[in-house]
Amino acid sequence: MTDISSTGQSNLKRYLFATILPIIFLSLSLSVLLYDQVKLYTFTKTEIEGVQMIRSLYHALMDLQKIRGYTQISQYGHHKEINRHLVLLKKRFLDRFQQKTWRLETEAFHLQSEAEHLATKAGQLFKLTPAEAKEQHLFRRYSELITEIIQFMQLAADHSNLILDPELDTYYLIDVLDVQIPYLAESIGRVRGIGSGLLAKQSISDRERELLHNYQAAIKARIESIENAQSVILKTSSDLKHSLHLLPETLDSVITPLFNECLLIEDKNSCPQMSPEQFFQLATTAIDLLATPYQTGIVLLTSKLKTRQAMHLWQGALMFIGMTIAIALLLYFNRSFYLYDQKLHKAMEQLSLTDQLTGLYNRRHFYAIFPRELRKSIRHGEPLYLGLLDVDNFKRYNDSYGHPEGDLALQKMAMAMQEVLQRAGDYCFRIGGEEFCFLFNAKDNDKAQQAADRLRSAVEELAIPHQGNSPHGVLTISIGLIQVPPDSHCILEQVMSKVDQALYMAKKRGRNQCVFLD
Ligand code: GH3
Ligand code: MG
Ligand code: MG
Repeated sequence: MTDISSTGQSNLKRYLFATILPIIFLSLSLSVLLYDQVKLYTFTKTEIEGVQMIRSLYHALMDLQKIRGYTQISQYGHHKEINRHLVLLKKRFLDRFQQKTWRLETEAFHLQSEAEHLATKAGQLFKLTPAEAKEQHLFRRYSELITEIIQFMQLAADHSNLILDPELDTYYLIDVLDVQIPYLAESIGRVRGIGSGLLAKQSISDRERELLHNYQAAIKARIESIENAQSVILKTSSDLKHSLHLLPETLDSVITPLFNECLLIEDKNSCPQMSPEQFFQLATTAIDLLATPYQTGIVLLTSKLKTRQAMHLWQGALMFIGMTIAIALLLYFNRSFYLYDQKLHKAMEQLSLTDQLTGLYNRRHFYAIFPRELRKSIRHGEPLYLGLLDVDNFKRYNDSYGHPEGDLALQKMAMAMQEVLQRAGDYCFRIGGEEFCFLFNAKDNDKAQQAADRLRSAVEELAIPHQGNSPHGVLTISIGLIQVPPDSHCILEQVMSKVDQALYMAKKRGRNQCVFLD
C-alpha cells in the first residue's frame, strides 16, 4: 500500500522533472539561437542603411565633380549658362547635408561631426570668388574635398558593418561601389581637369606630364580591379549567370580617344587635335557612363542584402516555431504518459485492496482500515463494532453443488452484505475462503445486534437452496459480534480472537444466528 502511493508521488516528481528541465534547456538554447539570429538580422539591416548612405555620397561626389568641372570651364571665359548650373549644383550639394534622412543616417553611424566638416568646407569653397580662387588653386582644393568624400564613403562602410560583410560576392560588390568606381570616376575627373587645362594653356611642364600619366595609370588599374571583382562576383553568385555589368560596355570607346589625346598632349612634338571643351566633354561622357553600372551595383547589393535579411528573419521564425512545437509535444506526451501512469497506478491500487471473487475489500485492506476507523470512532465518541461471519456447513454445499456454485453463492452473499451495510463508515471484507468480517458504527449494543441480525436474515432471505444445512434447507451464516474497545492501542489479534470466540459460540448454539460477546 505505502509502496504504491509513494510510487504515485515520485511519478509526479519524475513528470515535473522530465517536463520542466527539458523546457528550461530548450528555452535557453532557443534564446541563444534567437539572439544570434536577431544580431545577424540587425547587422544586415545596418548594412542596407550603409548602402543608402554610400549611394547618396556617390551622388554628392558626382555633383562636386561637376561643380569642379564647371568652375574650371568658367575660368576659360564667361558662360552665363554654366554659372546658372553652378548655382543650382552648389545648392543641391549643400541641401543634401541638411536633409532629415541624411542627418538621421549620420547620427546612426556616429558620423555627424565628419559630415558637418564636409558641408562647412564645401560651403567655404563655393563662396570663393574667381579672383580668390586662382590664388588658392581651386582645382586642387576641390580635388581634396572629393578625396575626403571618397574617404567618408569608406568611413560609412566601416560604421555600417559593410566592411565586415561575411559573403564573398557582396564583399566584392561593396568594394566596387565604395572604392573602385568612385576612384575610377575621380581619376577620369582629374585627367579631365588636367588635360583640358593643358589644352587651354597649350604647354606642359614635366610635373604636369607625370600627373597626367599617373592618373591614366590609375584609370587602367581601377578598370582592371573592377573587371576582376566582377568575375569573382559572377563565380560566387549562382543567381547571376553572366549578366552583370559593373563597367559600361561603351567605356572603352570613350577612354581610348581620351588616352590618345593625352598622348598628343604629353608629346611636345605633336599637335593636340581636341579643343579644351571637346576633351572636357569626352571625359565627362566617360564619368556619366559610370552612373548606370553604379546604380545596377547598388540595386544588386541592396537586393542581396535584403534577401539575406529575410533569410535571417525566416530562420529565426522557424527556430521559434520548431522549438515551440517541440515544447508543446513534450508537454503533451509527458502529460499523457503521466495520466496513463496515474490510471495504471489507481487500477493497481484497487487490485491490491480488493478481493477478486466478490469485489469486497481484502484482509490486507482490513488491517489498514481497522486502526483508522478505531481512531475515528474514538474521536467522534461513536462505538465501533466488529462482526465476523462464516457460512454454515459450506463444505457440504460445495460437496453437493460443486465448487463453482459455491463461488456463486459467495458472490451473492457479498452483494447482500453490501446492501445491508451501505452507510458511509460501513465496511465489508472477505478475510478468508468463506469467512467475512465487517466494521460499522452504532449508537449502542442493541442497535449493533439489530444491524448484524439484519445481515444474517438478508443472507437467509436469499433462499439459496442448501439441503445439507438442516433444518433451514437454505444457505445461512453465523455471526460473532463485539464492540471494539475504544482504545487506540488495542491489539488487533486480541480483538480478532474475541470475535472469533463469539462466532464459535454462534456455531455451537446451532448456527444461523448472531452472538454478541460483551
Ligand atoms: P461450519 O458450519 O462449521 O463452518 O462448517 P463448514 O463446512 O463451513 O466448515 P468450514 O467453515 O471449516 O468450511 C470451510 C469450507 O469452505 C472449506 C472449503 O470447501 C470451502 N471454501 C473455502 N473457500 C472457498 C471458496 O473460495 N470457494 C468455495 N466454493 N468454497 C470455499
Ligand atoms: Mg470457515
Ligand atoms: Mg463454514
